[in-house]
Amino acid sequence: MKIGISACLAGDKVRYDGTDKKNEELLKILKDHELIKICPEMAAGFPVPRESLEIKDGKVYSSGGKDVTEKLKKGTLKCLEMIRDCDMVILKERSPSCGTYRIYDGSFSGKLIEGQGLFTRLCLEHNIPVYSENDIEEIRRKTAGA
Ligand code: SF4
Repeated sequence: MKIGISACLAGDKVRYDGTDKKNEELLKILKDHELIKICPEMAAGFPVPRESLEIKDGKVYSSGGKDVTEKLKKGTLKCLEMIRDCDMVILKERSPSCGTYRIYDGSFSGKLIEGQGLFTRLCLEHNIPVYSENDIEEIRRKTAGA
């Protein structure tokens, strides 16, 4: 299978604080598949490290209060082109770009709410199946023997 994956889950140090979220268990499950690493925030031209981003009322703001919605949208569109023919994407939970089930509430206080990141929404609008790293058993089933 051809699978898009958040670059930070694959081990790239592209998060806002310069770290990764490498998920060894996930990568072991996916080892025989073709992985396409994507990071919408890097594709948008944000640096590493950078201010953290959160979504509030449908717009994306940096921790410094800047509206970066349009900038991030450009990055999500670039990433969509990269994964258009993928069988699924696996995205990093809680991110304003990649969050699948939960995101931060926009107050920069650590509070989580139900919601999706900008890139996640775009993938769903284009009928690309989206999973988070927390869907590990489902991912295992879907990719087994494929
Ligand atoms: S935008 Fe997505 S891939 Fe990039 S660091 Fe954030 S969660 Fe990871």
